[in-house]
Amino acid sequence: MVRHRPTLVLNKHWVPIDVTNVMRALCKLADGNARAVNLEDFSTHDLDSWTRVGFREAVALVRGGSYDVPAPDVIILTRYDRVPVRKPAFSRANVIKRDRGACQYCGLRDHAARLTIDHVLPRSRGGATVWSNCVAACVACNRRKNDRTPEEARMRLAKPPAQPVWMPPRPWEDEARWARFVQGH
Ligand SMILES: [Zn+2]
Repeated sequence: MVRHRPTLVLNKHWVPIDVTNVMRALCKLADGNARAVNLEDFSTHDLDSWTRVGFREAVALVRGGSYDVPAPDVIILTRYDRVPVRKPAFSRANVIKRDRGACQYCGLRDHAARLTIDHVLPRSRGGATVWSNCVAACVACNRRKNDRTPEEARMRLAKPPAQPVWMPPRPWEDEARWARFVQGH
């Protein structure tokens, strides 16, 4: 699908810093945070002027309700030098996602519903419910570890838990934003 195609992101000094997808790139255009780069003459465009570029060669179009928008191959950020880091919210589901659905003690991969969240330093000992103290654990390991630290239980963590700074793209969010955007035009 055109809207999930990759788009190169340049910072305002024309240095490539990221790869996003067409849908997300168009949202940045719509928000005024980026301009599309016309690779035929390196002119840059806001969303409005981008829809009116007369391309010499055929370009892929994204259907946008009342009008179609060319899919940008390259966009240039107008505001940020760096792409803001996405920080996912702390939740049971996101801890399991961070740990790739695997028990952090024995490596068992299981259905998210069958995995538990283990407090590395147990709650009964003041362990907080935060990224750096919570890991996915299978029922057996969680039971075995009980109210002990990994050292006391002689159980080794696959890796020290930390706040993840990247999450897989969530295209449906962009689809929803795009739908709201075209409705307003
Ligand atoms: Zn386990």
